[in-house]
Amino acid sequence: MRCIKCHTKAVIGLPRHNAAFCNPCFTEFVHDQVARAIKAERMFGKQDRILVAVSGGKDSLALWDILLKLGYRADALYVNLGIGSYSERSQQKVQTFADTVAATYGATLHIHKVEQEEGAGIRELADLVHRPTCSTCGTIKRYQFNRAAIEREYDVMATGHNLDDEAARLLGNVLHWQDDYLDKQGPSLPASVEGFAKKVKPLYRLAEREVAAYAVLNKIDYIVEECPMAKGSKMLLYKDVLNRLETESPGTKQRFYWGFLERQAKERPAASSMTEKDRASLHPCAACGQPTTAEMCSYCKMMARAKVSHSRTTGS
Ligand SMILES: [Zn+2]
Ligand SMILES: [Zn+2]
Repeated sequence: MRCIKCHTKAVIGLPRHNAAFCNPCFTEFVHDQVARAIKAERMFGKQDRILVAVSGGKDSLALWDILLKLGYRADALYVNLGIGSYSERSQQKVQTFADTVAATYGATLHIHKVEQEEGAGIRELADLVHRPTCSTCGTIKRYQFNRAAIEREYDVMATGHNLDDEAARLLGNVLHWQDDYLDKQGPSLPASVEGFAKKVKPLYRLAEREVAAYAVLNKIDYIVEECPMAKGSKMLLYKDVLNRLETESPGTKQRFYWGFLERQAKERPAASSMTEKDRASLHPCAACGQPTTAEMCSYCKMMARAKVSHSRTTGS
């Protein structure tokens, strides 16, 4: 197998692109895919301040690495969920990257500790509000990332979702005909109202295995294991199904997700009237002031419920 660009020995084959690359040409290919994503979806410019949501996994660390190397002003936020040694080890990976690669670009790492700020780890919080750990985690992360982006005045928030993540999410939304979610699924979500940060996914053109290869070839040390709370999740099942289709017919994931984006782009006038409707029903949360459609935002509602059941169990 030879590199299609320079004809030296290839280190990775990409069946869906009918291509193979050597190490430097593959890195160039990845940077180029991200640059194309940023441009096509008008994500941000060189002057914008970007906040990358990092977890210690390959996707978010690779994203931070790529944005810095492409010359963007990117800082990062890590949310420590307090899942025992898993959280400690993933924070360590993020810290190492921040102290080495990111430090040479003068980039900053912010850390939010759930046990300190919310008063309990994610498992305990989920128990208190009687909700699955993953949805509790999702609510806290969405809230804290948005709050950090707004309060620290970042122009845009970037997450490491790749093509596999987005295709799996699309499959889930289609299987259950989640029209509301389908309307809002895209690689670039504008700041719809004051108080909501713009959110982008610059890795949506890259498959999970390509991002993993990039991280390994560029010597990014990341936490390999999945979050212990995510075991048996529907997303992992959808990814597995899509991978089987991809093996039989390379390019399936890409055609599925990119095809969806093309259709969505054609219907954009309709999509923007949706945002108008959302905008009209949003107002500041009674407790924290972040925009919400209810009296209180879902984060504050959850924290209030946690407090009530905590005082019930302790009798205080
Ligand atoms: Zn090459
Ligand atoms: Zn609130």
